[in-house]
Amino acid sequence: MICWFCSLREAQVKHTYGIDMYGEVDAKTTSALTDIAYRVRHVEVPRCADCHRRHRQARFASNLSVLFFIVAVAAAPAIILKWTPPLISGIWLGLAVGLVLTALVSVKLILKGIHSLRKSHAKYPEIQELLKQGYRFGQRPKAGIPKSDPSRKASEEETSSST
Ligand SMILES: [Zn+2]
Repeated sequence: MICWFCSLREAQVKHTYGIDMYGEVDAKTTSALTDIAYRVRHVEVPRCADCHRRHRQARFASNLSVLFFIVAVAAAPAIILKWTPPLISGIWLGLAVGLVLTALVSVKLILKGIHSLRKSHAKYPEIQELLKQGYRFGQRPKAGIPKSDPSRKASEEETSSST
């Protein structure tokens, strides 16, 4: 199978990009108990070793950009509250902003010519199909009591009206 991300190289099983999605949530509340049923689907996107490596590097660079962004934001109170001399906070801010931009450009360059993971979340046919069915990313509904999916509710109303 050809790698979905570059459409060039042969995909390898050990580099497959796997992601879990859940859906068809069915929440029923009976007195004090809430019974939640849902399905989990594991989607596998064929990927080659090179794309896997580039995705890892891109994630690293993108994490760095977040880190530098926090460092840049931290310069604001330093300037306002005069924690450091203006020259120092100026260098601090300039350097951090420069590093944020460098990291962001690196992500672009690393992923040049291949699809990003985010793109696969939006464009991979099997994922698209599941999203259309109301599936979401993750292994389980998030904290709190989830609501039934609209499709579930609709089918439930249908059955109750027919009886
Ligand atoms: Zn590839």
